[in-house]
Amino acid sequence: MHHGDALRPGETALAALPSARDAGLEFIGVLRTPFQTRDDCPRQGGFDGPDCRVELKPEFAPALEGIERHSHLEILYWLHQARRDLLSQSPKDDGRVRGTFSLRSPLRPNPIGTSIVVLERREGNTLLVRGLDCLDGTPLLDIKPDRCGYSVQARAKGLD
Ligand code: SAM
Repeated sequence: MHHGDALRPGETALAALPSARDAGLEFIGVLRTPFQTRDDCPRQGGFDGPDCRVELKPEFAPALEGIERHSHLEILYWLHQARRDLLSQSPKDDGRVRGTFSLRSPLRPNPIGTSIVVLERREGNTLLVRGLDCLDGTPLLDIKPDRCGYSVQARAKGLD
């Protein structure tokens, strides 16, 4: 357990952990970042952040066809070290407590994280990006073009 995982004053958690049900998600690759501990990670990634690698399993490489047309991508990942039972949390450990679903905390029943990243380039089945905030080795769930590319203006420029 991470040293920050102990309950803080005012926080509450489920009495019992939910059973380990599997929604059938497939990890399609892994995220390589310079962040080795949760304390190393920024709270949210930024486009001025360090170069990171989105390493897709080779069998999914054909699904990257056309990705270079997009300057910005949305990366979805599984925050695999997060506890999953918190109902209310005190992110700053300052006595102020808020409900899990009013926060972007990694600690949630289904610890899915998302970041918008800048796509620098593609090297085979790897994407070099900036904007991630997760631990090195975080499992990759999905890659989508940033939804801003789907604006009326972007469609007029031929993005689809
Ligand atoms: N950008 C994502 C979002 O908004 O959905 C995640 C935001 S969350 C606040 C980012 C924090 O999650 C990091 O600062 C780090 O403390 C923690 N974190 C990063 N990778 C993690 C992982 N694999 N498992 C658990 N916690 C992680």
